[in-house]
Amino acid sequence: NFHNKENIQTSSSISNNTQFILPSPKKSKLTEFTKYDFDEFDGLEPLEDELNIDQMKETCPFCDEILPDLMSDKMKLALDRINNKQGKIEESDRIDFCHTHFAELLIVPSGIANKYPLNINFDELPHRIHRFKDDLTEIINSNAYSYYLNLAKQVYQEVGHRKAATPMMLMSRFESLRPGYYGSKGAVLIANTLIDLFINTRILTAVKSYPLQSINYIQEVLVPETAMRLIFEDIGSNSSLETARNIMIASSDFSDYVHNCDNE
Ligand SMILES: [Zn+2]
Repeated sequence: NFHNKENIQTSSSISNNTQFILPSPKKSKLTEFTKYDFDEFDGLEPLEDELNIDQMKETCPFCDEILPDLMSDKMKLALDRINNKQGKIEESDRIDFCHTHFAELLIVPSGIANKYPLNINFDELPHRIHRFKDDLTEIINSNAYSYYLNLAKQVYQEVGHRKAATPMMLMSRFESLRPGYYGSKGAVLIANTLIDLFINTRILTAVKSYPLQSINYIQEVLVPETAMRLIFEDIGSNSSLETARNIMIASSDFSDYVHNCDNE
């Protein structure tokens, strides 16, 4: 998509873009803010007149910087709230909002260029995950290799079982266990589906999850194994789980802005 490439070039040449550093001249604000829809984006024709484009772009109500063409649901909601003055607008709202629009200007277009999905059918996730049941049961029964089980076992060996399971240690590992572009919204859905599938049915017992506690086994082993398989399905058959894992790692920041629980 030509338009996306333009966005990337713009974002990678920030250091040359004085607009980013110097306060930009006041732009006339639109009274009615344009609603951006990611679905519609592909259908938009690039406008001919550059100057015209600049004047039509939506600007940040706080810093007046031009906002990204593609905004996450999180940002659209925040912008709606700010524009409609719903609730008290705090200083932290301003910092959050400005931080987010600068980040999205970089992260979202590069995510789109990498073909990470903007729209995910989260409703069909449980059904898709059920299809991995046999595969994941093999991991639980130690009949199949699991990258993430190996990783967890290494940590448990290095720091000791008790320390490895402390919240602080779990937090520090959580970053690398994020389910890629499925985001925190996907993480919650995946975990709940797996608890139904394996803990409630007693397929995953304390003995089988040892040295991990069952719930940590879900979080640290089965959630990332599942996310990796979902991404593997998404990218098509002539790929590998390893490629899927790399996409999972690379797309996690993108999902923080697009498929975040807070978007609900
Ligand atoms: Zn701003």
